[in-house]
Amino acid sequence: MAIRYYCRHCGTSLGTFEDEQLLVSPQLGLNELSDEEQQQIIHYGSDGNVHVRVTCEHCEEALENNPDFYMLDRWIQ
Ligand SMILES: [Zn+2]
Repeated sequence: MAIRYYCRHCGTSLGTFEDEQLLVSPQLGLNELSDEEQQQIIHYGSDGNVHVRVTCEHCEEALENNPDFYMLDRWIQ
């Protein structure tokens, strides 16, 4: 099982971690999220991998410059 990071907005793959122990490791900080936050960004895929949805630098910038983009994201989901 691997942990796959990708951007929730543009779908860009941001990296893959092969060690699932990282999920509960302070290294990624995921253990500091509330249960609700974890449910929002961590998804267990049918492929057996863990998908972590974050925002890449590019989209973070786009969101700052154009808040409407966030509405678009909500619409897609
Ligand atoms: Zn992105």
